[in-house]
Amino acid sequence: MREVIIVGGGPAGAVCGERLAAAGTAVTVIDDHLAWEKPCGGGLTRKALRAFPFLLDGPYPKKLVREVELSAGPGVRARLWLDEPIVIYSRCVLNGLLLERARRAGCRIVRARVTALETDSGRPRVWAGAEKFGSDFVVLAAGARNRLLPAGESSAPLSPADFEQTVGYYVPAAADVIKIKFVPGFWGYLWSFPRPDHLSVGICGKLKKYSTATLRRYLEDFIDEERLPRAGARFYSHLLPSPRLETIRRRRLLGPDWALVGDAAALVDSVTGEGIYYALRSGELLAECLTAGRARDYPLRLHREFGAELERTAVLAPRFFTKNFFGDAITTRTVEFARRSPTFRRTLARVFSGEQDYRTLEPRLWVQLPLTLAEIGWNLARE
Ligand SMILES: Cc1cc2nc3c(=O)[nH]c(=O)nc-3n(C[C@H](O)[C@H](O)[C@H](O)COP(=O)(O)OP(=O)(O)OC[C@H]3O[C@@H](n4cnc5c(N)ncnc54)[C@H](O)[C@@H]3O)c2cc1C
Repeated sequence: MREVIIVGGGPAGAVCGERLAAAGTAVTVIDDHLAWEKPCGGGLTRKALRAFPFLLDGPYPKKLVREVELSAGPGVRARLWLDEPIVIYSRCVLNGLLLERARRAGCRIVRARVTALETDSGRPRVWAGAEKFGSDFVVLAAGARNRLLPAGESSAPLSPADFEQTVGYYVPAAADVIKIKFVPGFWGYLWSFPRPDHLSVGICGKLKKYSTATLRRYLEDFIDEERLPRAGARFYSHLLPSPRLETIRRRRLLGPDWALVGDAAALVDSVTGEGIYYALRSGELLAECLTAGRARDYPLRLHREFGAELERTAVLAPRFFTKNFFGDAITTRTVEFARRSPTFRRTLARVFSGEQDYRTLEPRLWVQLPLTLAEIGWNLARE
């Protein structure tokens, strides 16, 4: 593999480019925005910080948060303390630092919008306006809205049922606590993520189920409840992949001379919406496979490392957000349990900081249930 073109210079494309260029490949990264404030919370959990330690140790402005407040309606609130912090970046800073690392490793960085891709004429080619780029391999890292896909049903763009709509504001205010709010029966959640000089406040909801007007109504209520300022707030909106299980299983991530990484490959946790780690790691994994001359290993390595875990989130998300437990919404019960049971709270904190995987979560919660209920009973009796 001598020449690789990467369409998209977000976390997935930038890390893939950096690793390929460091291994001696001639890499061109093409992005229409480069370092920009992509609509996002910008939160990185332990998984990402362990795999990419420069994100914790580096000199770039970021916010370290150890406290999460959960709410599920009036009077239903709980606080979690995290052993390991969640690190929150402005996306402009994060994308900028990742692209700078790619450039220093030897990538050519081009600011342009790719409008077409051709992969069936021997050597793949991409068009960016009037310019044409040829290469041995094309990495599609163009995010959730990517429509540049080689022909064929198994790699077609995601359907509306595989997305969540997000809307939000960058609010000029300061805070030290992440806030998460659930609305009973609502498939999605609201958040406020503190960054060094502002908050990213937003809501995500299943695209086919809720109109933008509904999401905005919940968001405005949240802003009122949290007494956040509206003056100077900037609105944003974007799509977040939340693929159904059948979509994940059917989707092709690799062709003879192309591959999908990050959001373009729908690699997002369907419960939390976490996608930056999976973007970074899928970019890195693909680079490792291409450098070793074993591109065909990419889908299997990805599945073994975290694909199976993401499939689990696709199964859990509809249950977690829309089903009941002991006569009330699971989300409401989650907050109530976290409020009154230290054992449950510790487990939930591990989920938030990325230490607890989903495959062992359910058995763990069942084993802990007697203790959880005893702690809840004890605390109810004292209230
Ligand atoms: C509102 C919201 C909140 C989120 N919060 C979090 C969070 O707190 N933590 C977390 O881990 N994840 C979060 N995510 C998910 C996270 O933002 C994504 O998973 C992550 O950005 C994916 O990285 P990527 O490199 O695959 O794609 P992107 O970051 O989307 O990068 C794609 C790049 O491709 C470029 N591009 C697209 N089309 C073209 C084209 N035709 N030509 C040239 N360039 C193109 C774009 O400009 C962009 O720079 C959130 C997502 C949303 C929408």
